[in-house]
Amino acid sequence: MLPTSLTDDGEVQNYVNGSWRTPTGADGQAVTDPGTGERLATVPFSGGEDVDEAVAAANAAFEEWRSTAVEDRIQPLFRLKTLLEEHIEELAELLVREHGKTRAEARGELRRGIENVEVACGIPKMMQAGTLAHAAPEIDESAVREPLGTFVGITPFNFPAMITLWFLPHAVATGNAFVLKPSEQDPLVVARIFELIEAADFPDGVVQLVNGGPDTVDALLEHNGVEGVSFVGSTPIARHIYQTAAAHDKRVQAQGGAKNHVIVTESADPAYAAEKTVASGCACAGERCLSNDVVVIEDAVYDEVVEHMVREARAQTVGYGLEDGVDIGAIISPEHLDTIHGYIETGLEEGAELLVDGREVSVDRGGNYVGMTLFGDATPEMTIAREEHFGPIQALVRVADFDEAVEVVNHSEYGNAASLFTDSGHKATRFKHEVQAGNLGVNLGTAAPMAFFSFGGRKDSFFGDLHAQGEDMINFYTDKTSYIERWPDQG
Ligand code: NAD
Repeated sequence: MLPTSLTDDGEVQNYVNGSWRTPTGADGQAVTDPGTGERLATVPFSGGEDVDEAVAAANAAFEEWRSTAVEDRIQPLFRLKTLLEEHIEELAELLVREHGKTRAEARGELRRGIENVEVACGIPKMMQAGTLAHAAPEIDESAVREPLGTFVGITPFNFPAMITLWFLPHAVATGNAFVLKPSEQDPLVVARIFELIEAADFPDGVVQLVNGGPDTVDALLEHNGVEGVSFVGSTPIARHIYQTAAAHDKRVQAQGGAKNHVIVTESADPAYAAEKTVASGCACAGERCLSNDVVVIEDAVYDEVVEHMVREARAQTVGYGLEDGVDIGAIISPEHLDTIHGYIETGLEEGAELLVDGREVSVDRGGNYVGMTLFGDATPEMTIAREEHFGPIQALVRVADFDEAVEVVNHSEYGNAASLFTDSGHKATRFKHEVQAGNLGVNLGTAAPMAFFSFGGRKDSFFGDLHAQGEDMINFYTDKTSYIERWPDQG
């Protein structure tokens, strides 16, 4: 089912001050099912006037919302959680149709998003900031967390529902107003979630949806009425967001792209490591910031691990995400599929050994498909081992020992995530302390933090200081006022 808020012409709407409106900017683009090529809708881009209107409504709503009792602020979030649970199957299907991932992956994304709503419902406890009696002679001191105003969320195409819910629940639970600018590539599941937000009965203006592209983003970044920006997307755009928002005196957290590594040591179970590593590389067709693209294997077990990985890669079924038994769904667009093919060509040109060629798969659905691709004997300098390709390609690198493995991982410009497969507690401890990445996993393929822990990221994978999820969200969306009291005896 498509969102009911679409116009009769199939245009995606903004949600501003409690009502649905068509964006008025000149540009726009088609929303297409990547698995079939079917056109689903059109997303018109918001212009400066749309942005002004949304920010003005958010700022007006903030005045009352900021002092609304915290118990009352979380009631719409409890209702939203229930509505998301009730509609999870329908939302998952819509997500598959506009994004291309599999139904199981879509359900998993929504589940992760719902967990963030659940965490934000704990704001009455999480927002407390501490009191100290006798902080100085005759003085008690406490800190009070205050919301700041209107925050903006700008999100990528690969997890349109989950990343919306990384930010929105925490921003509004802490007493701020929130404006979301979703990815223009797959805005439909977000539109449907906003229909549920409308049903959850937030006061008008507290939560707004503004669709658009780069110009819409820039209008939000430069707007005087915006206090801060939460961004997730590619590294060049994350850097632009960080610099532009900061230049306009805003708080900003900008998570960028990734190039994640797996280390497999000689004591790991090779079959288990191969299974989990390949699963991590092909999930969401490699369109994940936690996807492990580079597998660094100790020489003693290289051949055995590679043999298992080839078997695992060949066992993956590529197909339309709504069909049963599919492991790898469609790639978001024909252009991105071309980019992935380009990386496979570059891998060959630079001398890596193509062990499994994902270009050989054929899916008779009219969409954008590529299978799991493995390159053996890759080096850390090769393009496929350095650049984010955002596809199901893994580069397998042979190293002499664990020291060299850590060097290879830390050589990367990115620092989003890394995984280790080992039976050695000592190497696991070294991995924890020496590897420069924000999300680390031991004996698991994907290091994805739960909603009550912050989502890490270092180096070119993150710009800012406070991350998404967990306690960082509370610090990002509030400021602390220190309250110092002395009550001398007046006789
Ligand atoms: P993207 O950077 O192309 O787009 C992200 C958002 O930025 C979109 O809303 C888009 O409209 C906007 N945007 C694009 N170009 C812009 C410009 N020139 N000026 C202003 N705004 C612009 O990213 P994407 O392709 O949608 O998403 C994939 C990227 O996101 C990958 O690099 C992936 O690693 C990253 N990602 C990171 C994390 C993380 O937590 N670090 C999580 C998910 C995705």
